[in-house]
Amino acid sequence: MSGDVQSVQGMDSIQDVAERHLCAGCGVCAFLEPAAIHMVDDLDRGRRPVVEKRHESGLGLQACPGLRLDQPPAPTGADLSLRPGWGNVLAVWEGHSSDPEIRLAGSSGGAATALALWSIEDAKMDGVVHIRAQPSQPVLNETTFSSDRDALLAATGSRYSPASPGDGLQSLVDAPKGGIFIGKPCDVAGASAAAKLVPNLEESLKLTVAIFCAGAPSTNATLDYIAQLGGPLPKELQALRYRGHGWPGMFRAAGHDGASVVRTYAESWGVIQAKRPWRCRICPDHTGELADISVGDPWYREPGEGEAGSSLIVARTERGRQAVEAAMAAGFLDCKPVPHDLLPASQPGLLTVRASVFGRLLAMSLQGIPTPSFRGFSLFRLWLTKLSLRRKLGSIFGTVPRLRRWGIHQAREVQSGRVQSSAPEGNSTHSTP
Ligand SMILES: Cc1cc2nc3c(=O)[nH]c(=O)nc-3n(C[C@H](O)[C@H](O)[C@H](O)COP(=O)(O)OP(=O)(O)OC[C@H]3O[C@@H](n4cnc5c(N)ncnc54)[C@H](O)[C@@H]3O)c2cc1C
Repeated sequence: MSGDVQSVQGMDSIQDVAERHLCAGCGVCAFLEPAAIHMVDDLDRGRRPVVEKRHESGLGLQACPGLRLDQPPAPTGADLSLRPGWGNVLAVWEGHSSDPEIRLAGSSGGAATALALWSIEDAKMDGVVHIRAQPSQPVLNETTFSSDRDALLAATGSRYSPASPGDGLQSLVDAPKGGIFIGKPCDVAGASAAAKLVPNLEESLKLTVAIFCAGAPSTNATLDYIAQLGGPLPKELQALRYRGHGWPGMFRAAGHDGASVVRTYAESWGVIQAKRPWRCRICPDHTGELADISVGDPWYREPGEGEAGSSLIVARTERGRQAVEAAMAAGFLDCKPVPHDLLPASQPGLLTVRASVFGRLLAMSLQGIPTPSFRGFSLFRLWLTKLSLRRKLGSIFGTVPRLRRWGIHQAREVQSGRVQSSAPEGNSTHSTP
């Protein structure tokens, strides 16, 4: 279950990665090989690559985080006690954007957006590659290059649906003063791997920010949920928020006729999380270990009544620490240092999932299903020490029937789906509720 890319059995093309359920959907291969690969919405899985094999150069395969992830070595000053479960931790803060509108609109405390705004307005970078809801169909996401506050504000909030920010990395290569990249842990891992292959990207990619991620549910997870609630049909959908506008905020699907369905964040996540693809369930990195900075919810405490929002901010590298300190000093982030153990206290579920990964990979291997190469994430040690005997056995023997039930034991072609555009005639603008 480890080794380099070449040793991952039968994976000779990005098409194999997608068909054998190992694609994380980051889009980095499409940036690296635009003549051979483009991303589509596979509504049951996520953003997935469609590959013209005869034009494929192999660069995408080399950078693919679905196939290969290596935990970075520990930098000086890393908290070694946290490394096995949480990666490199140099410093932890709790806080929020100093801009009240961004704080309120943001998913937790708007920290990711505050760092983005700092990078443009104070550090004088050109912009940010990240994602936002598609203006003409808000159940889908699109990659965008934001270079001012309004664009950043429009992209706030976690979207619990597929997104592939890595397919927009060319915007950074083309940016003379460079910029930052925001994405899920897999997106950031892919962008960092691509930077090692493309010197111009390495120069332009000044900072990476990862949002914590328990897995991205499919597009159909959201569409089915809205239908179940009796909400707007896809063609009638005007705006869709999963959370934000307060912490954690509400799920809200609004139609062009003004009607909307609203549910709590906890209830909506409880339903749609069931439709996360297989690759998310064997992910060893839910907290962005390969980023400079990662940001998540401070779930170690209950949100206060009417609380505007708060984020847990983790420096993974010295570059990340310096960026957070500079954003604080320049008045973009309002936060205070907190004990490092608030990270595990905030995300206990993520450690249990990570501890199950060894058993799940073993179950795949036992059935001859290709597994990715994950190096340095202490997966065996966590499986051995963090799971009860029942959970240990469940991670292997419970996975075996699931792999068959969910069709992971066989290849499945990428299926490009369409969701009817929701923009009414003559109006393609999108506003958030
Ligand atoms: C699929 C998913 C799973 C998550 N799981 C967890 C979890 O287990 N634990 C936890 O604490 N938090 C989780 N989050 C929430 C997220 O980590 C927090 O909201 C984080 O604190 C960022 O908050 P913020 O207010 O700083 O971000 P904001 O300032 O609101 O900025 C959010 C940024 O994230 C980007 N973004 C939004 N959705 C996506 C997406 N699907 N893919 C790539 N980029 C995206 C936006 O473009 C924006 O730049 C998850 C989010 C997502 C999208």
